[in-house]
Amino acid sequence: MSEESASAAGLPSLPRRVFCNRTLNLRSMQVIGCDMDYTLVHYDTERWERRAYEYMQLTFAARGWPVTELTFQPELASLGLVIDVERGNLVKANRFGHVRNACHGTQMLDFDGWREAYGTAPIDLGESRWQFMNTLFSLSEACLYMQLVDLLDAGKLEPGISYRELYRHVRDALDTTHIEGTLKREILAEPERYVVLDEVLPQALMNLRAAGKKLLLITNSEWYYTKHLMSYAFDRFLDGRSWRDLFDIVIVQARKPSFFSGDAPAFRLVDDREHYTPHAGKLELGEVYLGGHARLVEASLGVAPDHILYIGDHIFADVLVSKDLLRWRTALIVRELEYELEQLRAFGTEQKQLDDWMHEKVLREHELSHLRMGLLHEKHARGRESSRLHQEIRGAKNQLVELDRRISELVRRSTEGKNQRWGPLMRCGNDKSHLARQIERYADIYMSRVSNLRDYTPYAYLRAPRVNLPHEVDWERG
Ligand code: IMP
Ligand code: MG
Repeated sequence: MSEESASAAGLPSLPRRVFCNRTLNLRSMQVIGCDMDYTLVHYDTERWERRAYEYMQLTFAARGWPVTELTFQPELASLGLVIDVERGNLVKANRFGHVRNACHGTQMLDFDGWREAYGTAPIDLGESRWQFMNTLFSLSEACLYMQLVDLLDAGKLEPGISYRELYRHVRDALDTTHIEGTLKREILAEPERYVVLDEVLPQALMNLRAAGKKLLLITNSEWYYTKHLMSYAFDRFLDGRSWRDLFDIVIVQARKPSFFSGDAPAFRLVDDREHYTPHAGKLELGEVYLGGHARLVEASLGVAPDHILYIGDHIFADVLVSKDLLRWRTALIVRELEYELEQLRAFGTEQKQLDDWMHEKVLREHELSHLRMGLLHEKHARGRESSRLHQEIRGAKNQLVELDRRISELVRRSTEGKNQRWGPLMRCGNDKSHLARQIERYADIYMSRVSNLRDYTPYAYLRAPRVNLPHEVDWERG
């Protein structure tokens, strides 16, 4: 389908589309659960993460660590990379979990460097050695960790501390920054600096409600933060109504991912000063709860798991666990998709050229192999190699060198984008990235923002495209 015919049929532009891994009939979803941070409320990531970074920096400065000269460098990391806490590295892996690029501290390793460190053994995210960057909240953590690895290597931190211990310190500092509340109060005092508004979103949610779906907000954030932030982001677009009118049940401090696997008790909010009372029995519509668990949601609403769609941005806590354990349907929000799709569009013509050259390379390599085989046959049959074949081999090799030069220049241009170090989120060279694989496995659908659903209507049948296998060749090209 061309972009023109798609837009004539009323489909949104590519960056605002909903992408589908597994076919999902929106019409049969009876309950839509939404995460808040980076799902219903989007932040200016650089600002949020810079402040989080600065709070962590204060923690380490108070311990006497020489961190005051450091600055937040967002380009050091990106979503979907993996921290190797054993070696003090940050790595990018392909869909098989094979490392294909890495840095130690803030320095990128060259081909031999990462090849020697990782070989072909796949990384296993089940091991504590590997810390996957599941959300945009991980950027400040990864950046500071890499910079501290540099300081550790230079002998400027406490002697004897391991890369793993160093990571623990950064993790604890980030936890404290999020939980302690000063940063969040700062955000609430000036939400206009941190929150990126989306005026289409309230309409998208209202449409879902109007079509009879129950809407739930399930967030790990605290009530005081949720209330102010949701009010800031939604009420202005609701003509005198409040964001509370959009949601049938609100669950705060949900403790995802264990919300999806555990059986924590629920507490009902009694008043606005954050007083709660223990709650027994089903969750009631119109109320705000703290804690609880996913099975309680299913039982309270009397809905089967495959009629619940949960939308979140955290690959592990929102999407992987709810899909794996509960069989809820899942949607992942990846805001960077908008930028990456613009890049893909801009690179479209060159991509065609790249595909042509890659095809030519396959043919030339095939010819070269046959020339080499010919040489071998000649040697065995006549005991000598002909200079004609040698000349042809030299010519074929030169052609390939020239082709490779053109290809690598174009490949370099194809990865030029927001993040020069790590390239596009979803790609790892010619292959899918580890992040792309996680999304494919655990998110039934994915999109840049929840509001993208508006143009599809609550009656959409979101169909997964046919995917090609390596043997399903382009018949025209052969
Ligand atoms: P949700 O995405 O709406 O479920 O909310 C995410 C909540 O988790 C926010 O309140 C964040 O401040 C908090 N959060 C994010 N990352 C961390 C962390 O590393 N440690 C502790 N809390 C975090
Ligand atoms: Mg979130």
